[in-house]
Amino acid sequence: MLFDDPDFQETIASVLVPVAVAGAYTYKVPPGKSVVPGTIVKVPLGPREVIGAVWDIEPDAAINPKKLKTISHVYDTTPPLDADLRRFVDWVANWTLGAPGMVLRMVLRSEEALEPEAPVPGVRRIEGAEPERLTPARGRVLATMEDGFAWTKSGLAHAAGVSTSVIDGLLQQEVLETVLMPAAPPPPKPQLDYAQKPLTPAQQVAVDGLTACFGKGSTVALIDGVTGSGKTEVYFEAIAEALRRGKQTLVLLPEIALTEQFLRRFEQRFGVYPAEWHSQITVKNRSRVWRGVASGDVQVVIGARSALFLPFKDLGLIIVDEEHDAAFKQDDRVPYSARDMAVVRGHLSGFPVILASATPSVESIVNAEVGRYKLFELPERASGAALPELTAIDMRQDGPERGRWLAPGLVQGIASTYAEGGQSLLFLNRRGYAPLTLCRTCGHRFQCAHCSAWLVEHRFQKKLVCHHCGHQEPVPKACPSCQSVDSLVACGPGVERIAEEVSERFPQARVLVLSSDIAGGPDRLKREMKIVEEGGADIVIGTQLVAKGHNFPLMKLVGVVDADLGLAHGDPRAAEKTFQLLAQVTGRAGRVTGGGKGFLQTYNADHPVIRALLSSDKKAFYQAEIEARRAAGLPPFGRLAAVIVSGPDRTFAEGFSRALARAAPPDQAVTLLGPAEAALAMVRGRYRFRLLAMAPRQYDLQAYLRHWLSTGPKPTKGLRLQVDIDPQHFL
Ligand code: ADP
Ligand code: ZN
Ligand code: ZN
Repeated sequence: MLFDDPDFQETIASVLVPVAVAGAYTYKVPPGKSVVPGTIVKVPLGPREVIGAVWDIEPDAAINPKKLKTISHVYDTTPPLDADLRRFVDWVANWTLGAPGMVLRMVLRSEEALEPEAPVPGVRRIEGAEPERLTPARGRVLATMEDGFAWTKSGLAHAAGVSTSVIDGLLQQEVLETVLMPAAPPPPKPQLDYAQKPLTPAQQVAVDGLTACFGKGSTVALIDGVTGSGKTEVYFEAIAEALRRGKQTLVLLPEIALTEQFLRRFEQRFGVYPAEWHSQITVKNRSRVWRGVASGDVQVVIGARSALFLPFKDLGLIIVDEEHDAAFKQDDRVPYSARDMAVVRGHLSGFPVILASATPSVESIVNAEVGRYKLFELPERASGAALPELTAIDMRQDGPERGRWLAPGLVQGIASTYAEGGQSLLFLNRRGYAPLTLCRTCGHRFQCAHCSAWLVEHRFQKKLVCHHCGHQEPVPKACPSCQSVDSLVACGPGVERIAEEVSERFPQARVLVLSSDIAGGPDRLKREMKIVEEGGADIVIGTQLVAKGHNFPLMKLVGVVDADLGLAHGDPRAAEKTFQLLAQVTGRAGRVTGGGKGFLQTYNADHPVIRALLSSDKKAFYQAEIEARRAAGLPPFGRLAAVIVSGPDRTFAEGFSRALARAAPPDQAVTLLGPAEAALAMVRGRYRFRLLAMAPRQYDLQAYLRHWLSTGPKPTKGLRLQVDIDPQHFL
């Protein structure tokens, strides 16, 4: 009988595939191939083929193997995903209530990375062979090749300073031979002792404390140090310790802070550039980094949040710099906090995780206070420079004249800074020229047709743009509502409008706008950051892009054009976020030399956030904020989860969210708020409603949600339901 023949026994395996289903699918393993948990495979799924990974789930033995499809390809040159990474994927899925396959998708994002890069042709010296005639050019080629290694033809020609025809001649004479060589040599290793700066005593204490965290299982350390205190220098020494122990390091930065400057600083310390991982790197580099991380050739990765899902061979340290930054939270697909999941990854694998910030999140401060995190404080700047002196400008009394946005006090400050050869930075977190355009004749306001948001005028591009869906339209000559010509007026300022005012007031000054949407993309931005760093601009106008991580040594003055901008939100973290942003941005002033000045233009000079900034009493601000959170049962003393319902039909979406709220199982521990129309009531043509569940810290909110959503009504007819655990954004 065929079935009893052991040679015919078929192996089956459960494979996690990148789709939004709860579990794994079962497949047959192709004859002659073997798989283990973590093996990356390609499998048929409906009409397509998808990349997946063999998972540690018992395959469904009840299924008749004859009915099963077969794994179509086994990537046997790629190391299997290790058990720690698989546990991490499961953990993140469980925490976010996402499908494990969708989390796995973040690991397997780069299909090209799964096959080794094809070797490239090169040339090598045939031993003992000599050319017929040794011309100077030939001599240079042979001298260059003295070490016996293979070269690409063009690389060799360049290095020897000859044309490729010289090399072709040597090939013809069989002095050289063609060989295949690896497409990319492994990257050079960071050098531990390349150039270590002498540390200040406070830095040395932190470094010793961090070094002591290694080899003791999972520890979380928080470096709370003022801007310019040398947090980067301190965690570089922790990287050195990880390298000493042969472990890989991941440094997570908010995407926006990933700059050339940071890479250069790494290079100055370790002699080589680290690998980069973010949305702007090329497919080829992405593949190389992925493979290098998996093989262990790449030892240090500097990346945006998605780098957390790279398949490190032996990860031993994660650093989350600017840990308070909301950019670490991903809101779409699988909503997760890269900071919190970094702590989880360290915990699962038993290695230290370092969080660093000049303005830590309230969550991390509380974790340090109760002893869950180890705290290292750096209260002074490394240069000894004093923190900037801050002044509030009360816009009700001392504001600018009509049609202007910069108060006389600020203008004076810029003028004297300019006269002394210093740089000024004006910060306004609004891209474009004006946030609202209206018709003077009929009052028509330009709104996005797909979102409940005003269209923002971008004057350089002559367009009206929606910042939520990207919709663009040309600025019309006539009002679309009353047809009046030339009746449109711009309301309020964006960075472009501030730049206009600055150029009018300081016609001689070199003015530069730094905003993520300026034409030319990240390369231009990198160049412009460098220009500022080197003193090639006098007055810089920037969005939050400039607030993060940069070191502009000549920056003397920082003016916050609208300090109240973040305070109005219905967001429980509005005060915290505004404090962090403004402390960071004003912290750009006088970092190296001291003597920095900061001006806050505000209509709320008595607001606790503004007062805390002025008195630089950071501790008092955090204590007040912590008490307010405790009293309200907000994070970290309580837990939050948002449920967002969206759909193309408003009434239907609203009706569904009400039905969902009614179906919520009664539970004393859980407070359910909503449904309420979202602050962004419509995005991309979808109407949005929000529910918010609150519970005490120890409560298993995920279990509650799972129960609720599995017993409650199911979304139909184009409705979408998204769960956001620990929401950071409340739009
Ligand atoms: P932070 O990350 O805390 O804002 P940085 O690490 O960027 O601070 O340091 C601020 C500046 O001070 C940088 O120019 C850095 O090179 C310099 N710096 C920091 N520590 C030292 C040190 N021990 N010796 C000399 N320069 C230092
Ligand atoms: Zn009109
Ligand atoms: Zn829109």
